Amino acid sequence: MVNRINHIAIVVEDLQAALGFWRDALGLPLHKTEENPGEDVNIAFLPLGESEIELLQPMSAESGIGKYLAKKGQGMHHVCVEVDDIEATIARLREHGIELINDTPKVREEGTRYAFVHPKSAHGVLVELYELPK
Ligand code: ZN
Repeated sequence: MVNRINHIAIVVEDLQAALGFWRDALGLPLHKTEENPGEDVNIAFLPLGESEIELLQPMSAESGIGKYLAKKGQGMHHVCVEVDDIEATIARLREHGIELINDTPKVREEGTRYAFVHPKSAHGVLVELYELPK
């Protein structure tokens, strides 16, 4: 079952400048900022209803997000939907001929399991699947 949008991720050139819009002008609370050295990215988490806006600033031009920024510029990067059972969801997607970027879920430090659906199978949108730790 698909539950809710967990987060929408947006690539920005400058986290502090982007907070000038999302936090200061629009008024969203800033929950925290975090460096993710694994993906070479700085992240700001701004809760919004049951979901969150995540601002991603690449820490280097060579990182995945850095290359994305150079090629496509700032903007929406992916939408993340939460599911009960990520393996069942992946199996279901594959039955429908959907291409995934990773067929096997990866695991974050806090135990969240995740996988990405290829944007060409999702009509131009990079979709992340999340299964939260039980
Ligand atoms: Zn994400």
